[in-house]
Amino acid sequence: MRAFGYERAADAQAAVALVAGHPGAAFLGGGTNLVDHMKLGIVTPDLLVDVTRLPFGTVEERGNGGVRIGAAVRNSDLAAHPLVRQRYPVLTQALVAGASGQLRNLATTGGNLLQRTRCVYFQDRTTPCSKRAPGTGCSAIGGISRELAILGVSEHCIATHPSDMAVAMAALDAVVQVQGPDGPRSIPIGELHRLPGDEPQLDTTLAHGELITAVDLPSAVGRSAYRKVRDRSSYAFALVSVAAVLDVADGAVRDVRIALGGVAHKPWRAATAETRLRGGPATEDAFRAAAEAELEAATPTEQNAFKVPLARSTIVAVLRSLNESGLNESGLNESGLNESGLNESGLNEGGRP
Ligand SMILES: Cc1cc2nc3c(=O)[nH]c(=O)nc-3n(C[C@H](O)[C@H](O)[C@H](O)COP(=O)(O)OP(=O)(O)OC[C@H]3O[C@@H](n4cnc5c(N)ncnc54)[C@H](O)[C@@H]3O)c2cc1C
Ligand code: SF4
Repeated sequence: MRAFGYERAADAQAAVALVAGHPGAAFLGGGTNLVDHMKLGIVTPDLLVDVTRLPFGTVEERGNGGVRIGAAVRNSDLAAHPLVRQRYPVLTQALVAGASGQLRNLATTGGNLLQRTRCVYFQDRTTPCSKRAPGTGCSAIGGISRELAILGVSEHCIATHPSDMAVAMAALDAVVQVQGPDGPRSIPIGELHRLPGDEPQLDTTLAHGELITAVDLPSAVGRSAYRKVRDRSSYAFALVSVAAVLDVADGAVRDVRIALGGVAHKPWRAATAETRLRGGPATEDAFRAAAEAELEAATPTEQNAFKVPLARSTIVAVLRSLNESGLNESGLNESGLNESGLNESGLNEGGRP
């Protein structure tokens, strides 16, 4: 590993000034991703600015019913926080599905969002990889691609974003708060990460020196859940994951938000499926049709074609289980209607069969 300097900034402004004024500098969170990459020689910062002791270590309720998560909050503290467990189960479930207890104790909210792809070629300096070394080509296209992207790919890169937490935050419509050399700005999470396009070396829309200070979650509406499908039940990245928030009234979808992990260069918001579902019946057939419509855009490789049916069936399974969790033991919701919007006599809300 190359020698590097280490600084602890007194406050956010000083941290931003240190990194922004020094092209070779990087912020240091828990170090569980960055330090691994330094050991592999993938990145070679000559100055690390530790941001874990800045005053961003709390989870706070906001006046609008939402919650602000400080960028330095550790993943295990966030998963266990009562506000998160009660209001955003999808986030707790995503966090505990990631990494291991020891890693989650160190990993921070800011660092987790900015962790880099697990593409094997990105981590292997002996192979061409345009994300690591721009312009060298993509070894994964035509190479080992089983775990890589099926949506939003480019001819230059088919890497996936590995974070579980970010997928849940995408379904929750989180907003990322950033402090930069030119002041603060707010970034909807869907605009934080990029698709690879012809600049796969850029993972996000952040400029050098921009510091994540917090993530805001809007007030919670609907039931939420996260399901991660992987090769083994712990310590493995997602092949496919689904985060969903579902709000059903009288058998109809009032609102739905779905994000997919393990399928794209960024947490993939399933906008096509959401549009098809909103206002329609909350039935398994409708969930399947919406999932199929979303996956029509998939362009898998031979090795990862299995992700298309896997993503489809995982979307259906998560929506079905969220929908059923709103029904009582007779299969009826608060309005006395079943999954198809019919009452015990088989009549709908208007009294028709
Ligand atoms: C064996 C192993 C298994 C794992 N399994 C999973 C898994 O299943 N699911 C999953 O989601 N993750 C998994 N991870 C990844 C883990 O979640 C990340 O390494 C961790 O979340 C990164 O957080 P950190 O605070 O350690 O970031 P760091 O390593 O400190 O930083 C990561 C990046 O973020 C930047 N950064 C850090 N803080 C800020 C900030 N506030 N503002 C701007 N930039 C910042 C750094 O400069 C760096 O570029 C695994 C990791 C390992 C080693
Ligand atoms: S998929 Fe992306 S990260 Fe992987 S080898 Fe190709 S360019 Fe590199």
